[in-house]
Amino acid sequence: MKLAKRVSTLAPSSTLAITAKAKALKEAGHDVIGLGAGEPDFNTPDYIIEAAVKSMQEGHTKYTPSGGLPALKSSIINKFKEDQGITYSPNEVVVASGAKHALYLLFQAILNPEDEVIIPTPYWVSYPEQVKLAEGTPIYVEGFESNDFKITKEQLESAITEKTKAFILNSPSNPTGSLYTEAELKELGDICLKHDILIVSDEIYEKLVYGEATHVSIAQLSEELKQQTIIINGVSKSHSMTGWRIGYAAGNAQIINSMTDLASHSTSNPTTMAQYGTIAAYNGQNEFVEMMRVAFEERLNVVYDQLVQIPGVSCVKPKGAFYLFPNVKEAVRLNGFDDVDEWVEKILEVEKVALVPGSGFGAPDNVRLSYATSLDQIQEALTRIERFIKNNM
Ligand code: PLP
Repeated sequence: MKLAKRVSTLAPSSTLAITAKAKALKEAGHDVIGLGAGEPDFNTPDYIIEAAVKSMQEGHTKYTPSGGLPALKSSIINKFKEDQGITYSPNEVVVASGAKHALYLLFQAILNPEDEVIIPTPYWVSYPEQVKLAEGTPIYVEGFESNDFKITKEQLESAITEKTKAFILNSPSNPTGSLYTEAELKELGDICLKHDILIVSDEIYEKLVYGEATHVSIAQLSEELKQQTIIINGVSKSHSMTGWRIGYAAGNAQIINSMTDLASHSTSNPTTMAQYGTIAAYNGQNEFVEMMRVAFEERLNVVYDQLVQIPGVSCVKPKGAFYLFPNVKEAVRLNGFDDVDEWVEKILEVEKVALVPGSGFGAPDNVRLSYATSLDQIQEALTRIERFIKNNM
């Protein structure tokens, strides 16, 4: 069978690949520590689960409007008002089957062949693939480690051409955990306004920020920037609801309307009971969200200190999300490997620790490790990595 061209160059998700490999080793009886997780290690709070169960018992087991239940859109609109001070109307919000699906619908809705989308590196693995699936062209701009992996307004402006359609901003970032300040966002936003570039602001890690840092949405900086931005968000990371598959987009009504039409012919609607669960998540207590944030911050501080004293490893301290993205180039060299991918494979084989190589994120000198696992496990994993490096120097 000859497959479609669009899938022939599609790279499988590197994060899911390492998780699968680690799982296979675990099932074969090995004591594997997986640091590949892209999801919180907490269960979804009971009050959310109970609300979803109740909705099913009450008969809410049928289709909903394609763009989401009106009651859920209202909860999302309230969330934007409370957290960002932004006012959206229901026709400016579409609920999708996860933030990933919201992004997919967005690129399908806005891109024509050869339209360019500026993607800062390191990037979340699905951005380039989703842009390519919509026949767009990813244009990479390097976020240098010396600038906390963030790009500057000069770098953004010099990447813009007549074909540039959109710019993806992910703050806090997966995989680096870096966070743009209000001043930096304003500078980047001014460039996008000047050249009329749509800003795709992926704010899925909004609730997970640490220390003095605060999350600011580029869309809250001015009415003009609100008009220029599509915000992507969801409950996967904030409420530990990755399996529920609820995310959403907010912004320009014409774009949102097209995304809704695309969803109506593909998924019909996001899963009904998951939408009811999400209404409860947003209308309920915030204690869970804060409890999880505090737990991640405590782990980050302990683990970061242990990580940076390992020979050949350096790391920018993340300000958000739940990943560390150390540069391991020197350790790889000291151990005599050609590249990070090989080194990561060997660590999994010898020390049974699963890391994600940075190559999948456009950063071949780094690895991503997730601290969405117990502190004991992460500390043990770092001890094993240190042992591996020292034994092979
Ligand atoms: N955006 C980023 C940066 C992510 O890391 C993820 C999940 O890993 C998503 C979007 C997708 O989230 P969802 O589970 O809502 O599809």
